Amino acid sequence: MLVVAGIGLVVNIIGMMILRKDSEGSLNMKGAYFEVLSDMLTSIGVMVAGVIMLTTGWYYADPIISAVIGLLIFPRTWRLLKEAVNVLLEGTPKDVDIHQLRQSLEKIPGVESVHDLHVWSLTSSVNAMSAHIVKDKQTGQNHLLKTLTDVTKENFKISHTTFQIEEEGYEEQEVHL
Ligand SMILES: [Zn+2]
Repeated sequence: MLVVAGIGLVVNIIGMMILRKDSEGSLNMKGAYFEVLSDMLTSIGVMVAGVIMLTTGWYYADPIISAVIGLLIFPRTWRLLKEAVNVLLEGTPKDVDIHQLRQSLEKIPGVESVHDLHVWSLTSSVNAMSAHIVKDKQTGQNHLLKTLTDVTKENFKISHTTFQIEEEGYEEQEVHL
């Protein structure tokens, strides 16, 4: 039991070193890192339980240590689950301030107002947005689109954007559900 757990521990440490630097980004990498981390804790727990059982003959060590590891892992599992649910429900990503985004868009020269602004997560590291932009008569549409796309990409890290450019008065005919 001790030998198998020892080999497992070495493999897990190698796995963690490989995954560590990527574990900040995507939910998949976070999940993989977490899987290896909980395996490593389990290996350590099995070894500690093995030593206790070998030296004292106290056989409750194994189930008690397993339960403690379960409790240690639970908060991280919960966070991972919350992030996954947010992606599935296309919730507003926690790293995007939608009020600040609106203000930045409204400050762009040629933009008169912004409505129907939505931001959601495509994956845990890719955000998407859509918005209706009311522009003034003088500003060219292509030029404005370029500025809007640049601002959202550079300042808010949103790479998938859909803008509906309108001129004043169009909004009155729109149906808002
Ligand atoms: Zn509109």
